Amino acid sequence: VYILSLGHVERFKSERPIIIVHGGAGAWDVDEDTRRRITDFIEKLLVESYELLMKGSEAVDVVEYAVSKLEDSGIFNAGYGSSLNIKGVAEMDAGIMIGSVMKAGAVAMSRYVKNPIKLARIVMEKTDHVLIGGEGADELAKLFGLEKREINESIYRRYKDALNKKILPPYYRKNLEIIDRVISLRDTVGAVALDIYGTLASATSTGGIWFKLPGRIGDSPIPGAGFYADRNVACSATGVGETIMTISLCRSIALSYRYLNDLYKATVESFRELEELFGGNTAGAIILSSLGEIIMYYNTKGMARGFMSSSLSKPYVNI
Ligand code: ASP
Repeated sequence: VYILSLGHVERFKSERPIIIVHGGAGAWDVDEDTRRRITDFIEKLLVESYELLMKGSEAVDVVEYAVSKLEDSGIFNAGYGSSLNIKGVAEMDAGIMIGSVMKAGAVAMSRYVKNPIKLARIVMEKTDHVLIGGEGADELAKLFGLEKREINESIYRRYKDALNKKILPPYYRKNLEIIDRVISLRDTVGAVALDIYGTLASATSTGGIWFKLPGRIGDSPIPGAGFYADRNVACSATGVGETIMTISLCRSIALSYRYLNDLYKATVESFRELEELFGGNTAGAIILSSLGEIIMYYNTKGMARGFMSSSLSKPYVNI
């Protein structure tokens, strides 16, 4: 019997195709209107993504599509809505992976591009590398003619307000709660999908942690940490990147699954290790197996999440 002292877990079983998305683990202390708006947004996105899967789109195309829409929404901490570093600059991380061939691509500290997930896909398909960071990532985005990101004025105002309230620096864990209330700390986005051909894919994108030091890279662009897919499992993680990357959360779940043959136990065991080291209020993940098992786990107060599959008549969405 698994006693989950720190986490919340939801599990479902479904037929393919399946799409799961998340909009980050965190406090999600939002008013009813905002909650509605976010729920509606995720619901609509799940319907669109599911239709693409039904029409025969591959999992990798659908997770890229879903994450690029989450990046553009401005609602979440990714793409247009990215949080800012201590100097007030967005440095975005993203990663994408195809399970059948175990190919991955990722970008770290990208400043230029509108959709870091599209750039991650270019790294995967058009270069010999897996992870490209900083200026190199920006140059690659320009080389492939990807769209440029607009500055988000309202996010910049939040940054200035927070500076004025002198609540720096937030990466001390004791201050996390305070910061959470002021600017909402963790709402990275991610998607995992199982297509009609039985292939899994995963994608994750983030602005990182508010007021991070320039150059800080989180878990989101690290294969096996913030994103991962193989023939049996796909995973996208969210939360404090330093905790997730220390135990390679997604790969830990996948390997535990390989040996335990039980996705639920594999997830709980991996989070137990993370929580033993770092405590609760740290992380969450969406996990999908090739057998159609769906797990959504978070040890924060909430996690924006949802899925759609052929067993449902309309998407399941919750925060
Ligand atoms: N995992 C992300 C990071 O540490 C943050 C998040 O999930 O919101 O960069």
